[in-house]
Amino acid sequence: MPHSPICPARWRGKRFFVKRDDLINPLINGNKARKLQFLYPLVKAHKLKRIVSYGSMQSNAMYALTIFAKLQGLEFHYYARINESLLANPKGNLKVALFFGMKLFDMKEAPNFLLKTKNTLSTTIQKGDTLYIPEGIRCKEAEDGIAMLALEIERWARKPINIFLPSGTGTTALYLKKHLRFCPLINEVYTVACVADNSYLQEQFSMLEPNTTLHPKILEPPRRYKFAKPYIELYKLWQEVKKESGIIFDLIYDPIGFATILHHNLLNSNLLYIHQGGLLGNETMIERYKKKFATIS
Ligand SMILES: *Cc1c(COP(=O)(O)O)cnc(C)c1O
Repeated sequence: MPHSPICPARWRGKRFFVKRDDLINPLINGNKARKLQFLYPLVKAHKLKRIVSYGSMQSNAMYALTIFAKLQGLEFHYYARINESLLANPKGNLKVALFFGMKLFDMKEAPNFLLKTKNTLSTTIQKGDTLYIPEGIRCKEAEDGIAMLALEIERWARKPINIFLPSGTGTTALYLKKHLRFCPLINEVYTVACVADNSYLQEQFSMLEPNTTLHPKILEPPRRYKFAKPYIELYKLWQEVKKESGIIFDLIYDPIGFATILHHNLLNSNLLYIHQGGLLGNETMIERYKKKFATIS
């Protein structure tokens, strides 16, 4: 995988840096490309025919796994709680995933062992020629690819920096912190919980890494935002960053990240923001924003 660039950008008159993992590859990029690195050597070595995962019907991980399977000539089965109206008129990640051959099933049809362990499963499981991958690719194997991201940052750093990235499952932030903890130029790896509250994120960290001294520092957002729900102030922040920095970020996680950065005054530190991709999902989010708020352009 080629190294992604680290670019200076401006926002509110301050300079910060962006690790452009959104530029890794046009098809699979962002943290999902990092988290999937372990899978490439496995396909041949383990003679895989099929990968299976589960989660929401609009997930970025679902999309990345679909493309991975397509490029590797594998089948991809995905279990989700089916939203019938979305299925009748698929958009964004779901539309592309179905187009590229993802087979979608109702979560209720998932194998029993998966139903029992789905929330706590923290490693992949191989059964015959099928590999089961936890929701959001939240698994110990994802560490390999994130370690590479850490190495690229370590080689770039010339002066003390703070790192910030918003979390879903927290896998990316956790392994980034773990692999940068001995780098003297990294002050701290900060994150914010976007999917649920801090205790949820802490639990996610602990399932992958029980040693809490290796966990990133979780910052409070200015208020609790419901995951993937449109908030006009978040949209405005996203638009503002886009206009001032010239960089398009994701609309689900990144605006909560920006709000948290402002809330904790992190722009005044030497900040490196990790762009984790996810831009395909913006299409559906923009549509939902336009439906909810007549005034946005
Ligand atoms: C998946 C995703 C995240 C969350 O990553 P985790 O490793 O689950 O914390 C954040 N931002 C974007 C754009 C994503 O696609």
